[in-house]
Amino acid sequence: MERTYIMIKPDGVQRNLIAPILERFLAKGYILRGLKFLTVSKSLAETHYADLSSKPFFGALVEYITSGPVVAIALEGKDVVAQGRKIIGATNPAASAPGTIRGDFCIEVGRNVIHGSDSVESAERELGLWFPEGLV
Ligand code: ATP
Ligand code: MG
Repeated sequence: MERTYIMIKPDGVQRNLIAPILERFLAKGYILRGLKFLTVSKSLAETHYADLSSKPFFGALVEYITSGPVVAIALEGKDVVAQGRKIIGATNPAASAPGTIRGDFCIEVGRNVIHGSDSVESAERELGLWFPEGLV
């Protein structure tokens, strides 16, 4: 069954959004296969977002992701990669529809509370990176 990597970013944790965010995915019917709370090293953040290393905001993005603990989540279910991205909403909260996580919980693209893998291939890479110990 398909799996995706979801991460509640430091602002989501600091703003007490862990429970409301998890609730949306679990109520939809996806199954938890991994869940942990961790602080992120600079090298892990840089590897995770390696595709964006040439972007002007890359340094700020790495600082953001390493600014406090995150919640790393592995979810499983039918079409969970694409459906998870729909539940999350557009990258820039200014464009995220109300009813999506970013549409409901944030304002700034640089503080957009959550990550979700953008393809099945990215999900496999990211789950291996964040859960090297494997999943249940
Ligand atoms: P994520 O990978 O975090 O789920 P995404 O796939 O919607 O987000 P990406 O293009 O992969 O969007 O960008 C990764 C992250 O980089 C965004 O979620 C956001 O936090 C940050 N980011 C993207 N564009 C900008 C920007 N123009 N200015 C500042 N930060 C940005
Ligand atoms: Mg992305």
